[in-house]
Amino acid sequence: MRDENINVKIYNLNKKEIHIKKIDQLIKEMIASQIPINFDIEALKAQAIMAMTLLVRKMKIFGGVGCKEYERADICKGEKWMDEDELKKKWGDDFERNWKKVDRAFKETEGKIITINNKPIDPRYHLTCGGATENSENVDGSKILYLRRMLCDYCKNSPYYSNYVELSLEEIEKRLDIKTEKASPTKGPNIEGIIEEIIRDEQGRIRSMKIGGKKLKGAEVMKLLGLNSTRFGWKPIAFRIETKGEGHGLGLCQYGANEMAKEGKTAEEILKYYFTGVEIKTVEKPSVDSPMKGKVIVLDAGHGGDNTEDVVGVNGTREKDINLSITLKLADFLRKAGAKVYLTRETDVYVPLSQRADISNNIKPNFFLSIHQNSFGNPNISGSEIYYYRGDKEGEILANHILEQFSSMIGITSKGVKVAGFYLLREVRSSTLQVEVGFITNPEEEKKLKNEKYQTLVAREICNAFIKYYSYE
Ligand SMILES: [Zn+2]
Ligand SMILES: [Zn+2]
Repeated sequence: MRDENINVKIYNLNKKEIHIKKIDQLIKEMIASQIPINFDIEALKAQAIMAMTLLVRKMKIFGGVGCKEYERADICKGEKWMDEDELKKKWGDDFERNWKKVDRAFKETEGKIITINNKPIDPRYHLTCGGATENSENVDGSKILYLRRMLCDYCKNSPYYSNYVELSLEEIEKRLDIKTEKASPTKGPNIEGIIEEIIRDEQGRIRSMKIGGKKLKGAEVMKLLGLNSTRFGWKPIAFRIETKGEGHGLGLCQYGANEMAKEGKTAEEILKYYFTGVEIKTVEKPSVDSPMKGKVIVLDAGHGGDNTEDVVGVNGTREKDINLSITLKLADFLRKAGAKVYLTRETDVYVPLSQRADISNNIKPNFFLSIHQNSFGNPNISGSEIYYYRGDKEGEILANHILEQFSSMIGITSKGVKVAGFYLLREVRSSTLQVEVGFITNPEEEKKLKNEKYQTLVAREICNAFIKYYSYE
C-alpha cells in the first residue's frame, strides 16, 4: 500500500511561498521535532500516528480543507517542525541513530490515524499535564467529545511536572496592563497566609497583626524588623508563581505517554487512553486511477413514488424522474472513480425524509448529496443553485466546485451557492448539499433536463467536481 507519490503542499507564511515535501519525510520530521527523541519507541509511534492524523485532517487529497491562510496549500507554517538539515545540525553525531529510531516509529505505524465516527480527530498534545489533562471547553471554549479530562499521574517524574516563575510587581503590571495601588504607611492589605488580622489605632499606628500565623504587637514588629515607626504599610513587590504541568493540557500528555510505554503499553493503547472513544484506523491512500477511493458518498434522488411535492414542467416532466435518472448516472461515475456509493432510493418510490436522514447517519458518509430540480413562476428563469447548511465549510467548497464545472463545461448559468435550513441539511450529520440542477419551469431547460445525454453531462461534472475537491487544482 506504500505510495511514495503523495506530496504535501506546505505554505510558508513568512516567505509567502509554497514548497512540496513527500508525506513520509514530513511525518518523520514531525516526529523528530515534536517529541523528545530519547522517549520510548511506543511514545514515538503514538506521536507518529498523531502526525499522520493531522495531515489526513488537513490535506485536500484526503478531503481536508487545507491551509486556512492559503487555500491552495495543505498546511501552513502553524504546524511547526524542523527539516532534516536542521535536525542534522541539532543532533550532530547522533543524527544517524536518532533518524533510524524515527524511521522505525514511522514504518511501524504507517497509514494509521486516530478517528472518531470515521473522521480524523484533531490530535492535540502537550509536554506534561501535571496530574490531569483538560476538557476542551476550558481551553478552546468548544466541547470536543474526545478531548476529555483524564487523570494522569504517569507524568509525575517529568521535569515539567511542577515549576515556578518569579515576577516583580512591575513586570506583572506591565504584562497584565494593570496599575496597583501605591504603598502607604497607614494602609496595607490582608495577605492571606502572610499578613492578617491587622489592628491599627486612629492615627494609623499598628497595634497588632498576625504575620505568618504568629500574633505580634506593632512595637514588636517595629523593633524586630528595624522600622522607624509603628505607622507602616506594605505592598508585595514580587511573586513566586507555582505551576503544574507544561502546555494547554489537551489530549495526549507526552511525558505520560513515555511512562505508559515504559510500563509496556502500546502506541494504540496510549492514544486510546488520552483520546476518549477513538478508534485507530488505516487510511486508504488515493490513487490516480481511483481518485475517489476510500470516499463514501450517499446520493439522494429527491421525491419519488406517490409523493406529489415535486415540481412539474410545462410539458409534464416530473422532477422526481429527472432526479432519479441523474442520481443513478452520478452513482455510476462516482463508483468508477473508486467511491463507495449508497442511494436513498433506486426506483420510483417515496422514502420519507426522516428515513433518508437515518440511512445517511448510519453510513456516516463523507458527503450526502440530494438531487433536485427547481421551479419558479417566471418561465424565463434558469440555472443551477446549490444549498448547504450554515457553517459547513466542506459543503460550501464542493458546491462551488460543482457550479464551476456546470458553468465551464456545460454552460449552465450559476445562480449561486446559498445557505438554507432544509430538513435534510439540518438532520444529516455529514456535509450535505441540495443541488438544484435546473428550472423545470423553464421550457428550454425542461427539454434539456429530459435529455439522457444532458443528464449524463450533469452527472459527469458533479463527479468531476468531487475529484477536484479531493485534489489540488
Ligand atoms: Zn500527564
Ligand atoms: Zn425537489
